[in-house]
Amino acid sequence: MEKRDKSGVLMKDKEYVKYVQLLRKAERDGRLDGYPCPLCGSRYVVKEDAEDCCRVIIS
Ligand SMILES: [Zn+2]
Repeated sequence: MEKRDKSGVLMKDKEYVKYVQLLRKAERDGRLDGYPCPLCGSRYVVKEDAEDCCRVIIS
């Protein structure tokens, strides 16, 4: 039971790492749509939204 839970967690970690790697690769290749916030990196469909994301905190 405990063993199965552990492998389950490992599987999840692997899947997450793979997902992040794919995401980074997609970003490098410019295959993701949207505009990233220059500060926190959150992506928005509208460029203005990305620019306004952390602007309130700065100003
Ligand atoms: Zn932001």
